[in-house]
Amino acid sequence: MGGKLSAPRRERIHERQWTDVFETHEEDVSGFNERFVGCEDELSSGEISCTVVEEKCYDPQDATLTFVEGDDDLDFLCEDYKSLRAKMSCGHAVTPMSLTIWCRHLLDSGKCNFVCGQTDCDVEWPFEEVYKMALLTEEEVEYFEKTVFSNAGKDYLGVKSLC
Ligand SMILES: [Zn+2]
Repeated sequence: MGGKLSAPRRERIHERQWTDVFETHEEDVSGFNERFVGCEDELSSGEISCTVVEEKCYDPQDATLTFVEGDDDLDFLCEDYKSLRAKMSCGHAVTPMSLTIWCRHLLDSGKCNFVCGQTDCDVEWPFEEVYKMALLTEEEVEYFEKTVFSNAGKDYLGVKSLC
């Protein structure tokens, strides 16, 4: 009668430290069905990042892009983005992130067109090129268009139309 209280079980917990496990990850993730797919999923599982910003990467299979070796010409903050570098029409190499940030910077400084950020390069990129190469999300496209129009409007009403 009466339940005998068993002595508390002692469990020995071995704490395992998984440091640097799975640090490397393959690039050949199949399932890049959409062009606008980012790489926020498994690709970054091994990294601890404080920022929530997902990094956009080019699809290595995308035959419409010209991939190049070397530096990201628009990576002014030296973020060293993971994505492959692709060539813009002006010949400079970009990643989706660096291009997005650069164009955002242009818009935020009141510009309504997208020009290359390299000092020796004043090439203006067509919107379609920026949209495609920056892998803009729907939200970003919306923001870009809104800002371009608003900047263009200001310009038009203000000094003179340069756009
Ligand atoms: Zn350029």
